[in-house]
Amino acid sequence: MAYAYDDQNIFAKILRGEIPNDTVMETEHTLAFNDIAPQAPVHVLVIPKGAYVTFDHFCAEASEAEIVDFHRTVARICAETGICPGDGGDGFRVISNAGVDGVQEVPHYHLHILAGRPLGRMLA
Ligand code: C5P
Repeated sequence: MAYAYDDQNIFAKILRGEIPNDTVMETEHTLAFNDIAPQAPVHVLVIPKGAYVTFDHFCAEASEAEIVDFHRTVARICAETGICPGDGGDGFRVISNAGVDGVQEVPHYHLHILAGRPLGRMLA
């Protein structure tokens, strides 16, 4: 896998504390913060602390501890935000953009959690 990680990307700077963020949750391997330009009432970005560029990069090269920590953090945020259908919430969407066709703006792997309004159909 040939990913070159740019350590000057904005999420790398957030992780180094060089620019501020509105933290929602932080664990050993994961940071979650509110998106600076929210597209829904709930719009949280979840990022691994490790230097991964995309979903596939993360899943292929991160340790099992990082991968479990990341996804458990997503689940905890959804639960604590009250958006899980299993707990009576109205639901949510998780998405991750990758590369040019995915229109990925920041080249540090991140997952968007969107909720709080009807999100519409993505796939016909
Ligand atoms: O998936 P994509 O790379 O396009 O999304 C990047 C996201 O990072 C955008 O939703 C943007 O609003 C967010 N962002 C942020 N804080 C920054 C810079 C970008 O929350 N300082």
